[in-house]
Amino acid sequence: MIALVGSINLDVVVGVDRHPAPGETVVGGDRQELPGGKGANQAVAAARLGATVAFVGRVGADDSGRRLRDGLAAEGVDVAHVRVDPDAPTGMALIAVDSAGENTIVVSPGANARVGAADVEAARDVMAGAAVTLVQHEVPEEAVAAAIVAAGGRVVLNPAPARALLAAVDVLVPNRGELEALAGRAGDPIELARGLEAARAVVVTLGAEGAAVVEGDRVDRIPAPRVEAVDTTGAGDAFCGALAQALDGGAELVEAARWAARAAAASVTKAGAQGGLPRRADLE
Ligand code: ADP
Repeated sequence: MIALVGSINLDVVVGVDRHPAPGETVVGGDRQELPGGKGANQAVAAARLGATVAFVGRVGADDSGRRLRDGLAAEGVDVAHVRVDPDAPTGMALIAVDSAGENTIVVSPGANARVGAADVEAARDVMAGAAVTLVQHEVPEEAVAAAIVAAGGRVVLNPAPARALLAAVDVLVPNRGELEALAGRAGDPIELARGLEAARAVVVTLGAEGAAVVEGDRVDRIPAPRVEAVDTTGAGDAFCGALAQALDGGAELVEAARWAARAAAASVTKAGAQGGLPRRADLE
């Protein structure tokens, strides 16, 4: 079982010819509302591949919160520990996409910002029983720290967005930019990963170049399957969810990373952060 402590957002997406400058208004197309948030995306990624996932998080007491929570449940995610917060709106990401596919995103965390140690404590049976605990940085530091302490199994942290690491984890899964932010400098990703002391193993994702698993002196490069990329939004979430699912199923880390690269490649061939997430049968 995977315990996931993370964020749930409504993504509101509007296409624009070009992005507005500060103070400017541009007229866009019709808005699309899609389920998102790194926590929810990764939970759905793992659940579609067959994992049992228990989610610890919060939505607001509003229509989008109800829809997003029900949507997670419909994907087979256990939402018993997704609290409906009476005092904050559901998290939202306002996303403008221009004709070149370039995004600008404003995130309003809402209820996600109120996920804390008490939420993790209330789910302590789930945390203790999970073989894998999966966390990201879209909930407060306090919640991440509590999850690391409460985890009975392996901790996988996707440090997105990048911020300082508080405690050591078993597997850290940054993308190149997050790795550079954590290292405090740009450079060769494998060298940077070796220098991080806050993880027993680092799986750095490198977009279309695939990923690298760095564990002590050992380095395994994982090539990305070549695909026609349509939308790479959420590729990292597909990767993290699939990695956690494979580890939960007993795979070795390198084997899990190869599986995750296959799932992530499949996910970029379709639009939307969750829309392209593959099922197990799609990868067999
Ligand atoms: P993020 O989505 O966090 O920016 P990456 O861009 O590193 O992270 O992508 C995560 C993973 O998704 C990569 O390690 C790779 O396995 C897969 N991926 C991303 N882009 C592509 C692509 N164009 N073709 C195949 N796989 C891809």
